[in-house]
Amino acid sequence: MFEKLKALLEGIYSYFAPKDQVLHLFLREHLLVTLCKKAPVTMSAIIVLASALLFLLHDIVNPYILGVWYVSVVAVALFRLLKAWKRCSDMQKPFEERYRTFRKEALLMAALWGVASFLFYPSGLPHYEAVFAIFIILMASASAVNLAIDRPVAEVYVTALLLPLAIRVLFEGGLYYTLFFAALLLYGVLLIMSIRQIGVILQKGIRQHGELSKLQKRMKMILEQTPAGIFNYDRDLKIVECNRAFSELLGVPRERLIGLDLYDIKDENLKKLLKRVLDERRTLKYDGPYASMLSGKEIWVSATVAPLFDSSGRLEGAIGAVEDKSAEHEALEKAEFLAYHDSLTSLPNRKLLGDRYDSQIAQAGRKKLYSSLLFLDLDRFKHVNDTYGHNVGDELLKESARRLLKVLRKSDTVCRLGGDEFIIFLPMISEDLSMSVNHTLLVSQKIHKALAQPFEIEKHKLFLSTSIGAVMIGTRGESLDEVLRCADIAMYHAKKLGRGVTSFYEEFMDEQIKKSIRMEKELRHALDRNELKLYFQPIVEISTGQVVGAEALLRWRHPSGITIMPSEFIPVAEESQLIHQIGRWVIEEACRTCRRWEKARGDMPYISLNLSPKQLRYSGFYEQTSKIVEESGVDPSKIKFEITESVLIEDSDRAKELIDRFKEIGIGFMIDDFGTGYSSLSYLKRFEFETIKIDRSFIRDILKDEDDVTLVKAILDIARQFDYDVIAEGVETKEQRERLRELDSAILCQGYLYSAPLCEEEFLRLL
Ligand code: C2E
Ligand code: CA
Ligand code: CA
Repeated sequence: MFEKLKALLEGIYSYFAPKDQVLHLFLREHLLVTLCKKAPVTMSAIIVLASALLFLLHDIVNPYILGVWYVSVVAVALFRLLKAWKRCSDMQKPFEERYRTFRKEALLMAALWGVASFLFYPSGLPHYEAVFAIFIILMASASAVNLAIDRPVAEVYVTALLLPLAIRVLFEGGLYYTLFFAALLLYGVLLIMSIRQIGVILQKGIRQHGELSKLQKRMKMILEQTPAGIFNYDRDLKIVECNRAFSELLGVPRERLIGLDLYDIKDENLKKLLKRVLDERRTLKYDGPYASMLSGKEIWVSATVAPLFDSSGRLEGAIGAVEDKSAEHEALEKAEFLAYHDSLTSLPNRKLLGDRYDSQIAQAGRKKLYSSLLFLDLDRFKHVNDTYGHNVGDELLKESARRLLKVLRKSDTVCRLGGDEFIIFLPMISEDLSMSVNHTLLVSQKIHKALAQPFEIEKHKLFLSTSIGAVMIGTRGESLDEVLRCADIAMYHAKKLGRGVTSFYEEFMDEQIKKSIRMEKELRHALDRNELKLYFQPIVEISTGQVVGAEALLRWRHPSGITIMPSEFIPVAEESQLIHQIGRWVIEEACRTCRRWEKARGDMPYISLNLSPKQLRYSGFYEQTSKIVEESGVDPSKIKFEITESVLIEDSDRAKELIDRFKEIGIGFMIDDFGTGYSSLSYLKRFEFETIKIDRSFIRDILKDEDDVTLVKAILDIARQFDYDVIAEGVETKEQRERLRELDSAILCQGYLYSAPLCEEEFLRLL
């Protein structure tokens, strides 16, 4: 019986069970709680009503059935009341289960009342009938209102109470009861319609609420996961809300950021902008640095900040979107740096120098201050590069750059022009020209000193010197190009004067440049037009006065009639590659002369030829020269070459190889101008020379300067040791000759005392 009833209830329940899943879980829970909370009132009301019915019907209806019914109703009511609170608060059981039992109990109660309205109808007793009907209608209405939020249960209640009553009334027959029946049905339908209406409104509300909360959730999710830092601050400049990206960007946890006072941030520009957004009520952009006061992190940000209004248009605060542009900024800075700096040394480049020059020279002009510019060229840098490789060369440049920076003031600009050339710009030195010159000279001396310190790179100990061209810049706003051109000329001059020298630009230098350009042009034709001649200066044995050799010295008989000396045109030839043609001609001419002399007189003095370092650098020099000598048919021992020390320094391995190879075919080498250059006696040990030519500067002072005597003595000692001949150059007086004879009776002499350089005919006549 009980099982059947349960099954029946299940059936009814499943028919009415909500198929609509719109009910939000939260709201259904809320509904259950509401219904449960009302349980004491509703259950008491049911018991009161049931008791009233018992009182009304106890004489009319079968008391047993009525009694059973009454007890059932009271029992179910009490049972529900007891369970109600527990069910609502019991969160262990799933909501669905709790809700289902609640509904089943409600349906059971509805069924009990349905049974009553059908069975206990007090037929034939009009007063009772009326009261009974009122009771049932009251019960139905109360249930409808009470359960309206749970529509199916409310509908079951209304149907279960009114329908049996209506049918029972219809059984009474007659017009009066038929109308009563219709009224009951109509009332039921109206109640159900009202319930439905409430349901629809409720569902709509629930759906909207659901959708709204979904939107809220989505918005929250979007805000949280937006790939840009979002922050919202109020009118007091306090952060109200921010997302994950923002907290990551600043490296500060979100909790610490909320409530943060933006008045405290360090960056004034950003702070002003945040305030302006509120004051001016418009969107502003910020690109710049931001240093977090909480994490200490320093970044470059790009932020767009807009005012935030509520729905009524009142200003709430502002909202900002921030992006970390540190990487881009760094890349940009790097690119900018590279555009203005030399990549190897990180020194400013020509472009940056130009910018600084223009602005500082303009300023110097206004203040009437002199400035200056130095053009540095490292001596023999190419040689370091070729010998030790580019790595060593690069390191040398970097270290040089560091040393230069050390000796200069912050306001000075050191720039690498390229290769081994540096520019130093000393702006706004003084109002006084001579003070400015002195300062420039002082700086250049410091530079020479700094670069003269040995460099230790990859275990090589390297010595460097530099040639500096200096230009004073007046207050007329000379252009950088013009100043650089002058500095270049001055530097070039410094190189000529010897290495490690500073030369100030003077106007005559310009003249010289022009002259050498003109000379170069004419020199090109000199060979074709047969304008070059060899002169010969005798080399004489001091003891016997016998001429043992002759130094061939070049003369240029210029079409204008003047004879140009080699010291004037050889440097021009060296710069223009013409030296190779000229040098070759000298060797051919010397061989031809030698040949003529041999034919004419048999035993003749040897001829010594001067070789330019440039000539020796030409890779086919040995092959070319040996061929000329061989083809001319001269005795190779009658040809000798003079080289200076600079050749030995620049490429000592190659020089040694050349000297050795020429020695094999019988051509000897002399070391020229000995004592002037790097004068290392060690060269004498390493290279197999035949003869040392002591520079004429020592011979000139040999009577006055004891130091020179000492040096000449030392050279003579070594020469004896290695069995070298020694020639004293530039012997002009008898006194000099006598002093030399005292030092060494085997010494050879060359100089005006014996003869100036002579043309071939004069030389032969002298012999
Ligand atoms: P150098 O090799 O030292 O030549 C000696 C220079 O001293 C010659 O000058 C000569 O005229 C000069 N001289 C000789 N005796 C005396 C003296 O008693 N007193 C003084 N004050 N000077 C004396 P020159 O002919 O003007 O040559 C100058 C330089 O030009 C030479 O210096 C040499 O380096 C270079 N040169 C000359 N001819 C050639 C050549 O065919 N090829 C190369 N590459 N260079 C040459
Ligand atoms: Ca010479
Ligand atoms: Ca010489």
